[in-house]
Amino acid sequence: MEAHTPISLLGVPIDANSSHRSGTSGGPAAIRAALHSGSGNDATERGVDVVPLLDDLGDVAVANEPGSRDDADAITAAVARELDRGRQVISLGGDHSITFPILRAFRDVGGPPLTVVQVDAHPDLYDDLDGNPLSHASPFARALEDGCIGRLVQVGIRTANQHQRDQAARWDVTMVSPRELDRFDPADLVGPVYLTVDLDGLDPAVAPGVSHHEPGGLTVRELLDLVDSLPGPLLGADVVELNPTRDLVDMTAMVGAKLVKEIAGAMLARR
Ligand code: MN
Ligand code: MN
Repeated sequence: MEAHTPISLLGVPIDANSSHRSGTSGGPAAIRAALHSGSGNDATERGVDVVPLLDDLGDVAVANEPGSRDDADAITAAVARELDRGRQVISLGGDHSITFPILRAFRDVGGPPLTVVQVDAHPDLYDDLDGNPLSHASPFARALEDGCIGRLVQVGIRTANQHQRDQAARWDVTMVSPRELDRFDPADLVGPVYLTVDLDGLDPAVAPGVSHHEPGGLTVRELLDLVDSLPGPLLGADVVELNPTRDLVDMTAMVGAKLVKEIAGAMLARR
C-alpha cells in the first residue's frame, strides 16, 4: 500500500439494536465534531499528521430498525467497497451490532484469518438478546458462527455470566479482565488484526457517554498503549457505543476522536 493511501472513515448511525437505552445513533456526528473541534491538532502522539489522511465518506444509509438484515447488508456492502479498493477502514458507531456486518465484509474479501481484538466491558457473545440475533449483545456470536474471525481476544471484560463463558469456551475466546491486563501483551498476537473498541470497556469515570456504565474499566492511557503495541497489519477498526445523550462536556466524544487518530496512526505505521 502506498504511504499516501488514505484511510476510509465510515459512520454507522444505528442504535436500534441496543438494549436498555437509545442514543448511540448520534455517535458518528459527535466523534466527527470532536475530531474537527479545533481543540487539538492533527498529529498523533508519535507526531504523524493523520487527520488529513482520513477520507470521511459520511454515514452509511441505514433505516435503523431492530434486527434489520437490510441495514446489516448495507454496512457489509459499504465496508466491502473500501476493502475492494485496497483501503483500511475505520467505522464509527452506532451500537456494537455494526461489527458483525463489518467483519462479514472482511471475510468476503478473503485473506488470512483475522485476529479480532475487542475492547469492551461485555463479551457480546449472547446467542440472542430479547429475540434479536443482531442485537448489540451478540455480534461476536454471529461473527464466530459465520467464520469471520480467526481468533477473538477480548480485553476489559467484567460482566461475563455463565452463558457467555460457555460461548467463549465453545469458540476458544481469550478473555482478559481489567485485573489481568498487566499479564497481557498485545505484541504476542498474530496479525492481521481488526480492532473493535466499545467505549464502555473504558472506566465510566473517563468515558461516561455510554449506555451501560460498568465501573472498574480501563484507563485511556491503557487503551492507547494497547493500540500502540498491536502487531500489524491493522486492517480495520471501529469505535462504537458512544451515546452523546449520556456524555459530560463532550469528554467521551473527545476520547473517541483521540482513539480514531491513534488507530489511524497505528494503521499507517503497520501496513
Ligand atoms: Mn459493552
Ligand atoms: Mn460491546
